[in-house]
Amino acid sequence: MSPAPKLFRVIGGAQNYDWGKLGSTSAVARFAKLNDPENVSIDEEKPYAELWMGTHPSVPTVSAQDRTPLRDLVRAAPEEMLGQEIIDKFGSKEGIPFLFKVLSIRKVLSIQAHPDKTLARQLHASDPKHYPDDNHKPEMAIAITDFEAFCGFRPLAEIDALLQKIPEFRELVGDDVATEFHSGVGSADVAGKKRLLQKVFSRVMNSPESKFEPLAASLVERTKADPQLFGETLADLIQRLDAQFPNDIGLFCGCLLLNHCILKSGEAMFLEAKDPHAYISGDIMECMAASDNVIRAGFTPKFKDVEVLVDCLTYSFNPVEEQKLNPAPFPRATGDAELKLYDPPIDEFSVLQTTFTSAGSEKFEGLDGPSLLIVTEGKGKVKLQGSDGALDASTGNVFFVAPRAAIELVSESKDTFTSYRAFCEA
Ligand SMILES: [Zn+2]
Repeated sequence: MSPAPKLFRVIGGAQNYDWGKLGSTSAVARFAKLNDPENVSIDEEKPYAELWMGTHPSVPTVSAQDRTPLRDLVRAAPEEMLGQEIIDKFGSKEGIPFLFKVLSIRKVLSIQAHPDKTLARQLHASDPKHYPDDNHKPEMAIAITDFEAFCGFRPLAEIDALLQKIPEFRELVGDDVATEFHSGVGSADVAGKKRLLQKVFSRVMNSPESKFEPLAASLVERTKADPQLFGETLADLIQRLDAQFPNDIGLFCGCLLLNHCILKSGEAMFLEAKDPHAYISGDIMECMAASDNVIRAGFTPKFKDVEVLVDCLTYSFNPVEEQKLNPAPFPRATGDAELKLYDPPIDEFSVLQTTFTSAGSEKFEGLDGPSLLIVTEGKGKVKLQGSDGALDASTGNVFFVAPRAAIELVSESKDTFTSYRAFCEA
């Protein structure tokens, strides 16, 4: 194997999970086809849920030139491909510390939370079947089309109002806990309020099917008979998700207890460890640390670890606006593009959005770690600064950029040209 160049095109792997958008309505399918037209054909009946870019062994990303897995290239030359600082910091020469994805979502994903590092170690030691590794799993989602999700618990006053006016919710939680919650909601004692929220959540999550299924059916009927009681948006949401997962506990633990966030293209959210969330619909760029640790709560046929879930959550409650991650400027580049840095408070990744709306170029300093860049709109060129060999960079194309490689993006027209670059620095 000859040494890999510092900038080269790669091909990610698509995943056909059931919740993905169908055929060419899916950004995943369109991007996969555009990046590998000879080998990918879109089946309009099939869901295309995720496009993986990284070194995860189960869905390899490969070099476009000779189909060598990126993971093999990294393992053959870890210092060149990752940088010594990254190897030292994350203790591995095996792969890139993050996984970068495109997601195209047609049906709600399971309501879930992820452990932090300490809890991940405990869970993996005691139950390796359900918790396959000992790492945390911070996740960030950036909308590329209108996107909706559940993110964190609603402000307590909202939950209280719902408990007061929706009889099915009150019955599920119980009069005793609902009354206690109502009298404690105005208190200044934050820890006390979190305990009350935990009581409500625990009642919901521990209710048997024989109890919550008829209540869910009655709840859905009520949204049809009296949508004003819920507000149009919430009534519509409950009906849509009930059509996907009839009489599911998620109608309560998701729709009534969690914030319903709607993000416009370019808006982002960072999902803190031990906060409940679920993606509902839309197309996003997602970046995450390499881990598979998920604790599920609803909208899933998979294992729900209710005890761990109820015990571990932070029970933070914040309004929707505070769940969003505001992008920062990126000073380490010069040129004509607009740059937005999405920099969550973790080590494994940041994501840089670069948008041109006119012809021009943008020169980037080399980054101190590996990066993956995907074009999500328009077309242009990408090259190493000072080299002649510019590569075409059109929608769907994905590139690996080695540590310290200073690249340049070039737009040749006034059409929008947008890319996202995930990177990791020590
Ligand atoms: Zn998640």
